[in-house]
Amino acid sequence: MTFPDLVPILRAAMPSLRGRLVANQSLAELTWFRVGGPAQVLFMPEDETDLAYFRAHLPQDIPVTVIGLGSNLIVRDGGVPGVVIRLGRGFSDVTVEEGHRLRAGAAVPDVKVARAAQEAAIAGLAFYRGIPGGIGGALRMNGGAYGRETKDALIEARGVDAQGNVRVFSNADLHYTYRHCGVPDDVIFTQALFQGMPGDPAAIAAEMDKITESREATQPIKSRTGGSTFKNPPGRKAWQLIDAAGCRGLIVGNAQVSEMHCNFLINLGGATAADIETLGETVRRRVKDTSGVELEWEIKRIGIPAGAAPTAQHG
Ligand SMILES: Cc1cc2nc3c(=O)[nH]c(=O)nc-3n(C[C@H](O)[C@H](O)[C@H](O)COP(=O)(O)OP(=O)(O)OC[C@H]3O[C@@H](n4cnc5c(N)ncnc54)[C@H](O)[C@@H]3O)c2cc1C
Repeated sequence: MTFPDLVPILRAAMPSLRGRLVANQSLAELTWFRVGGPAQVLFMPEDETDLAYFRAHLPQDIPVTVIGLGSNLIVRDGGVPGVVIRLGRGFSDVTVEEGHRLRAGAAVPDVKVARAAQEAAIAGLAFYRGIPGGIGGALRMNGGAYGRETKDALIEARGVDAQGNVRVFSNADLHYTYRHCGVPDDVIFTQALFQGMPGDPAAIAAEMDKITESREATQPIKSRTGGSTFKNPPGRKAWQLIDAAGCRGLIVGNAQVSEMHCNFLINLGGATAADIETLGETVRRRVKDTSGVELEWEIKRIGIPAGAAPTAQHG
């Protein structure tokens, strides 16, 4: 499946753009599940100024979707109409600041933030050791583990809105709740400033090793997966509801509910996005039938199904 090429239209509208534009770029290899169709256009901005310029000059009828490291994402088989933005090198600095603070670009993998904090004797960020996404995804998802989440460590986040304005959001402005950020979806985060505490590097390293061991023992982290598929409903565990509904090991096409952790879905090899999404919807239905609880997707699904008519044509 290919989309009409938007690149010439974008180049004409943005003569000073410095970042890369690629038409019909496959997205599957940019996600953990390794499924899905292409982006109509993939844009990789050089830096925050370039991103702001792009957004200020983008024709309003072209949709924008941002992706991070693709660890919480199903890209549907028909691909993503419009522009998909992925931040790279210009957003990958990590700097330690006075007062046990750490500043990280949105493209920095969470694990690098955990390591940089450990090396600088900053405690409070070790939980990022086990989350395979990047800081942009952590800001959007309020990513967390082992009793801490992004909102507990964040001072402020920078981002670029749909009009191309660079904005700074305080922790309170982000209106965080469990795996949810209250800032409008059009904001693309570019940087985070974290507050840590004084810590002992050896003790932090030991904490991180424990996290690694516990992950390897309880989660299929070497599989093609998207992590926890559904949010835990208030006072309940999604995996227990899924298990009680008899879904552990359930297969649709080449996708399976993990035997090891049944809130994880796995691409067994050759799965389509439709296999994975249908499996997830089957689980939701069975859980509703057995327990009355409606599970809510934690994994984000973007794009259109195979065979759907692409909507974003321009010019
Ligand atoms: C094996 C495994 C274990 C996991 N364990 C955990 C865990 O313990 N805790 C946890 O919270 N999550 C976990 N996850 C899920 C995932 O790692 C997190 O949700 C992570 O924060 C997603 O980051 P990402 O960069 O991969 O974002 P993506 O998956 O690429 O995107 C996720 C969402 O974030 C948005 N987004 C990405 N970048 C930006 C940006 N710069 N600005 C605005 N929005 C953006 C996307 O539009 C999308 O809506 C796990 C996943 C896997 C595969």
